[in-house]
Amino acid sequence: MNKTEILKALPTPCYVIDEQALIKNLEALHYVEEKAGCHILLAQKAFSSYCTYPLIAKYLSGTTASGIFEARLAFEEMGDRQIHVFSPAYKDEDFDELLKICGHIVFNSFSQWKHFRSRIPSDCKVQFGLRINPGYSEIETEIYNPCAENSRLGITEESFEENELDGISGLHFHTMCEQGADTLERTLAVVEEKFGRYLYNMKWLNLGGGHHISRPDYDREKLIRLVRNIREKYDLEVFIEPGEAVAINAGFLVTTVLDITKNGMNLAIVDTSAACHMPDVLEMPYRPMIVGSELPGVLPYTCRLGGPTCLAGDIIGDYSFEKPLSVGDKLIFTDMAMYTIVKNNTFNGMPLPSIYLLKADGRTELVKQFGYEDFKRRL
Ligand SMILES: *Cc1c(COP(=O)(O)O)cnc(C)c1O
Repeated sequence: MNKTEILKALPTPCYVIDEQALIKNLEALHYVEEKAGCHILLAQKAFSSYCTYPLIAKYLSGTTASGIFEARLAFEEMGDRQIHVFSPAYKDEDFDELLKICGHIVFNSFSQWKHFRSRIPSDCKVQFGLRINPGYSEIETEIYNPCAENSRLGITEESFEENELDGISGLHFHTMCEQGADTLERTLAVVEEKFGRYLYNMKWLNLGGGHHISRPDYDREKLIRLVRNIREKYDLEVFIEPGEAVAINAGFLVTTVLDITKNGMNLAIVDTSAACHMPDVLEMPYRPMIVGSELPGVLPYTCRLGGPTCLAGDIIGDYSFEKPLSVGDKLIFTDMAMYTIVKNNTFNGMPLPSIYLLKADGRTELVKQFGYEDFKRRL
């Protein structure tokens, strides 16, 4: 069986993580780590399918977490790798546990740093950093722009308290989204202009995520030059924490056509929902790809796909196919590993898709299966 046949044989809806594709991404990231002499961390918020953590640990330096739960997940499942954490604000009751399991803790403000620094034991090995907001980004979607006006994310140049840096060993910025090394170059110029004088006293700089390093057209050699340059100029360690670049194009969502109707155009209802199983389709928004389909109007049969929820806007997109769809047909959405499984929900009592791992040798393994109890337990 070829890959399409293997996927279409699975019960739906299901996510399928493609181990071979994941390895390809990890190889690209590992190459950058080696050549640039930096550390690359998986940003777990994009992809936390920990059945793959032992594999990821072979290629990357560790993970970054958005808070206590992701930090714990890495601690339990990734083995002996670095764990970094950044959160816009920590809670008192989580902080002591974070101190035990994280190597690096990044604060979003001087007030958070001052609040927690008195609770750090004197023999503590954790390194502390501050997230800066350079006020420069090339992200056009406001909801994804940490440098938008009045952003709560990161310390601006105006709010930087240079007399409160005792105990701080690194700076962190995250201002990119699905971007290339050119954007990083322009961003670094602003970071250096505004915060460069502090970097000479720092041990590390974290360049955040949003670097599309494993995309074929990404200029890895430029990234390597930029990282080496920064390392040498300020004599510090560099971290990069991509989420997307780890899991991009490394998974599928397989669905079955449940009904076909018409209202001004062909409509199909499938057993997966944009709102529940791929919320970025509505949030970003974007149109996911389906194997064997084209943009509407390109192939003879065009159809709008929607989910079985009662939300009018639960529309996945318009697609054209060689032949009309029929009830029972299976469709394969691509690039469904990242920002999907971590974001899904059971709105409308929608079942959660099962999770399969497609091994490099072509076997599929059922990782997780969900049912009514998973829905009920959260309510
Ligand atoms: C979202 C996020 C990342 C990962 O971003 P990607 O776009 O998935 O690479 C890394 N660091 C921080 C602080 C983030 O908020």
